[in-house]
Amino acid sequence: MNAIERAQAIVLLALFAAGSVSAAEQADLIVTNAYVLTMDDQRTTYKRGSIVVQGDKIVAIGGQDLLARYKADTVIDANGNIAMPGMINLHNHLSMIAFRGLGENGVQNRLFQFFFPLEKSQLSRELIRVAARHAAIESALSGVTLVTDMYYHEDEVARSVSSVGIRGVLGETVMGFPVVDAKEPYGGLAYAERFIKEWKNDPLVTPAVAPHAPYTVSPEWLIKTKELADREDVPILMHIAEKRTEAEMVARDVGAIAEGKSIIEYLDDLGFLSDRLVAAHVTYVDEQDIAILKKRGVGVGHNPKANSRSASGSSPAWIMYEAGVDIGLGTDGPMSSNQMDIINVMGYAAIVARNRNGPDTRRLPPYDLVYMATMGGARALDMEDQIGSLEVGKKADIVIVDIHAVNMQPMYDPYATLAFSTYPQNVRTVIVDGKFVVRDRVVENVDMAAHEKEWTAITDSVAEFAETLE
Ligand SMILES: [Zn+2]
Repeated sequence: MNAIERAQAIVLLALFAAGSVSAAEQADLIVTNAYVLTMDDQRTTYKRGSIVVQGDKIVAIGGQDLLARYKADTVIDANGNIAMPGMINLHNHLSMIAFRGLGENGVQNRLFQFFFPLEKSQLSRELIRVAARHAAIESALSGVTLVTDMYYHEDEVARSVSSVGIRGVLGETVMGFPVVDAKEPYGGLAYAERFIKEWKNDPLVTPAVAPHAPYTVSPEWLIKTKELADREDVPILMHIAEKRTEAEMVARDVGAIAEGKSIIEYLDDLGFLSDRLVAAHVTYVDEQDIAILKKRGVGVGHNPKANSRSASGSSPAWIMYEAGVDIGLGTDGPMSSNQMDIINVMGYAAIVARNRNGPDTRRLPPYDLVYMATMGGARALDMEDQIGSLEVGKKADIVIVDIHAVNMQPMYDPYATLAFSTYPQNVRTVIVDGKFVVRDRVVENVDMAAHEKEWTAITDSVAEFAETLE
């Protein structure tokens, strides 16, 4: 307790004795003795802070004096550990975790040699459900409280993500050829409409539509996905400007781009860009494109780790961030980034930014990296009034990170420690909507033995098929 806190406590005690403060108000959960990083606009922190939760919302946040004003059945002493907003993963394909680690040994064309045959032979509703659950568990254990997903049978993904207890913004894929859950080209749009109607009012799941990419969806069908999203008021998720030759691919494969136009200009001319769009990658863009993204309020999911690992270029993320584009961090799928945490991605974002276009170590300092991992993601999804920071009235999505671990010490600057020293395993406890998802590194809502049985059956089958691919 510092001098001010001590003075406040004395005043409160005096008022209480005089009868001018009523008995402590009842709450559901109090996290106390935490190093709270609120990530609010004023960058407020409380070194010995408390967070009071009622239902799914934060009702008070401040110092230890809150303990005199509130009582709760569940009080967690955070032991000085960091309490921060849940991290937001802006781009993933959760169920591909069933294929993680395959085709890693210098394969010439991994997409055609591994991805497509694996998906064609192995994908099923069951694999998608069980694998999504596995990836959601790994995400939760690393402090990710919202994962953005683009895949097939998203209703199964929705069941899995919500069963683990984290949030999902889940986009049903639309593309111009037959896929596992749509026999006809673009059949994903009708699937998306059914999925959206079924899941629209779920407390954890935000259903969305996900046109795969500009070169796999024709302009007419892009417009149709936009119309669906506008009608249902849901997000659109899409890979955009991921490839250096994307403009030529669009011209060749959907015959739609005018000479000299960038991908961003092409999409803008179509009327496709808006604040409901979250674009993954956005690697090959110039200053003019960035100005358009900003003007249209497009959210950007930056995946520096996956992009670096697959040698697909590096995005000018720090330029977008400084230009005021709503940008957050993503892992991309488990076949291209392997780990499901955002903690490692913060470090990659700094490394990539600082080495691009001539080195400059000032780019993306630690606070900005933690901002991208939390509020940046919330803003990209237009959910910043609900999540992304720890503030009164917002959802109680709280992550507690162990600062007593060897790798976390010394901690002079908590943002630097989070961005550059933390391992996903340092996350101890994860709370979403005021409920425990992970408590002292134990997943609360999943029967792990039952999950492992289903998981083993699926990965055994994948392993057997994968032997035919080498
Ligand atoms: Zn992707």
